[in-house]
Amino acid sequence: MAEIWKGAPVADALTEELKERAGKLKVAGIVPCLAVLRLGDDPSAISYERGILKRCEKVGIEVRHYLLSELCEDEELFATLCEINEDEKIHGCIFFRPLKDKAQERMLCELLKPAKDVDCATSGSLAAVFSGEGEGYAPCTAEAVVQMLKFYGEELRGKNIAVIGRSLVIGRPVSMLLQRENATVTMCHSKTRNTEEICAASDIIVAAAGRAGLVGEGYASANSVIIDVGINVDEQGRLCGDADFDALEPLCRAITPVPGGVGAVTTAILAKHVIEAAEKHLK
Ligand code: NAD
Repeated sequence: MAEIWKGAPVADALTEELKERAGKLKVAGIVPCLAVLRLGDDPSAISYERGILKRCEKVGIEVRHYLLSELCEDEELFATLCEINEDEKIHGCIFFRPLKDKAQERMLCELLKPAKDVDCATSGSLAAVFSGEGEGYAPCTAEAVVQMLKFYGEELRGKNIAVIGRSLVIGRPVSMLLQRENATVTMCHSKTRNTEEICAASDIIVAAAGRAGLVGEGYASANSVIIDVGINVDEQGRLCGDADFDALEPLCRAITPVPGGVGAVTTAILAKHVIEAAEKHLK
């Protein structure tokens, strides 16, 4: 039977560390602060926002809400973003993507100050993830994958890792972060012909395709570690990942559940980025 690697212990440990760091910031007169910018009432954005609020409250991060209509004018959005950029008391900003209006999404991604870009929306942050230098932060979910592997003591150096998915939000950045840890990464995507074979020959599989049940028995061996990033709804309407958990759990070495796995760590990483951004203001 596989070890079940849950996200809560990882998030809790990080939260405890961040609480202390937030305390030190407050002693120095800095209240760590995150701006949450939401356009419209998308239920998944609202649910993620709820998780962010809970985490920030636990850590001691102030949250400022900026709620606009998804039909708002460019001018209003631009003015809101300028306010966030210019307010020195705000250390980080997250907005929920995708936006309905792609031009507005591009505007936000281009204009947010990289120093406040705590979830890798800007191309400057992406460049930093790829080069390992510069301002900005990795996408929270991508970093949560690495945090999880480290927390459970998985040595990454020299490991063969298959990443399924090549999006700019998860697949590509997580591949870069894992290479930085000296792993050998193979990125698979929808046009890869032998994903199953590549996964079966890897030590670790990071599944981020958004396809329920994609990773089945043939993808894993007794030594496989499976980090399931996917969030899907199965035929019975239940939340599930990309891995066929019931089939894989008896045969692999470790697996993360969905829900309760990587997703639980994402908001803790967001809080970590806000604390790091605030710490840059310490004299
Ligand atoms: P996306 O749709 O942008 O990208 C999916 C990627 O998977 C693409 O690169 C595609 O080529 C690849 N892919 C699709 N089908 C495939 C197949 N059969 N074989 C191999 N590769 C295949 O999605 P995304 O934004 O990267 O998100 C991926 C998943 O992660 C989704 O289920 C999403 O809901 C979930 N997610 C989880 C969190 C979290 O906190 N746990 C955060 C964001 C997204």
